[in-house]
Amino acid sequence: MSNLEQTLSIIKPDAVERNLENEIKEMFKHKGFSIIKEKKIQIEKSEAERFYKVHETKPFYNDLCAYLSSGPIVVMVLEKDNAVSGNRELMGATNPNDAAEGTIRKKFGISIDKNSVHGSDSIENAKIEINFFFKD
Ligand code: UDP
Ligand code: MG
Repeated sequence: MSNLEQTLSIIKPDAVERNLENEIKEMFKHKGFSIIKEKKIQIEKSEAERFYKVHETKPFYNDLCAYLSSGPIVVMVLEKDNAVSGNRELMGATNPNDAAEGTIRKKFGISIDKNSVHGSDSIENAKIEINFFFKD
């Protein structure tokens, strides 16, 4: 049975800066994701703070929000069967040192903070995050 889902992906500043946008998109397409919507933007720190509000009590929150707003990012809506978990799998572990072979973070991540991509962690958060960037 098919279970079509959408999830939010962000190519973070470290990857955009290194011109990895197309290579990362190819990895998504190769795994069968369709890129339904996309835009390259730079956000204000205040927007990053709203986006990452679930992390507001964490010690890394301030640096994380400063980082996400530090340069251009590419935000995308990805679609395929089980897109949320499939994207998490393709991204790899938060810390690139722990990420499995063949994952985006293993291939391109620099460090736990500069880990190249964001992906929604649940179907519920995917809806919230898609709506955050693509209200229409
Ligand atoms: N992060 C960090 N230090 C940490 C944990 C997380 O800088 O010790 C950053 C990292 O960029 C990560 C983001 O905060 O991608 C959000 O953390 P989360 O635990 O949600 O990881 P993710 O869902 O991105 O794998
Ligand atoms: Mg997360």
